[in-house]
Amino acid sequence: MSRWAYVNGRFVRHGDAAVHIEDRGYQLADGVYEVWAVFGGKLADADGHFERLERSLSELRIVQPMGRKALELVLREAIRRNRVRDGLVYLQVTRGVARRDHAFPDPQPVPAVVITAKSVDRKASEAKAAKGVGVITLPENRWGRCDIKTVGLLPNALAKQAAKERGCAEAWFVDPEGLVTEGASSNAWIVDAEGVLRTRDTSANILRGVTRKSVITLLGEQNIRFEERAFTPDEAKGAREAFITGAGSLVLPVVSVDGEKIGSGTPGPVATRLRALYIEAASA
Ligand code: PLP
Repeated sequence: MSRWAYVNGRFVRHGDAAVHIEDRGYQLADGVYEVWAVFGGKLADADGHFERLERSLSELRIVQPMGRKALELVLREAIRRNRVRDGLVYLQVTRGVARRDHAFPDPQPVPAVVITAKSVDRKASEAKAAKGVGVITLPENRWGRCDIKTVGLLPNALAKQAAKERGCAEAWFVDPEGLVTEGASSNAWIVDAEGVLRTRDTSANILRGVTRKSVITLLGEQNIRFEERAFTPDEAKGAREAFITGAGSLVLPVVSVDGEKIGSGTPGPVATRLRALYIEAASA
């Protein structure tokens, strides 16, 4: 089946899609992105991702490429053309094309927009979730504005590769105070030794995960003690449960940290329940 990508105003065959060599995203990582999960052909947590996109653009003073309604139409068209029922939609907006110079071009170029959509095998994802995944910890080495979802992901890519080489699915960054910030592409959670569900608060240098926020909303109906409070790798290793959240991972149980088993080494009941609740809510 042929795949389609949206590039600066038109849909083109994925294999033919291309951007300019002086796109500032390509040369300077001067751009932002968003990823939506798709359930039953529909965008999950649509508004949360649009809000964060608008904030990321405004923090970098990149012009909004189009209004939310228009953008949503294009995203839906990308889903339709690629016949995605369950999957992911990726949107990238860069400051645009200009002769290479670090400072912003004047006048401002038209922002460059790329959208792709791909299917995800939910059966395989569920099998992965039923087993749980391992994470490693690494020193935090990213910049100070991780609240902006920029395409500058080199430390994240290196951390993911390190995790992969150790048979793990994610890497958790640990800040100079010895506290876990977040994962390379997800937010980090534990159910600590006292049974308190914990994730780092968003005043820290982390991405304000849209899935994280939805899961917190879902907690309101559950009888779970919850605190937005940072934890150390040792607390994670001594925790009853751990998991990660993100548009790609949804709610994914973590069964080991740095090779040490969490709890019984199998997905815990809280993570398993929250995954089911999140998928149910996102599919509604
Ligand atoms: N933290 C980082 C660094 C991420 O890259 C992501 C997602 O890509 C997340 C957290 C989770 O965010 P969301 O739930 O909005 O996908």
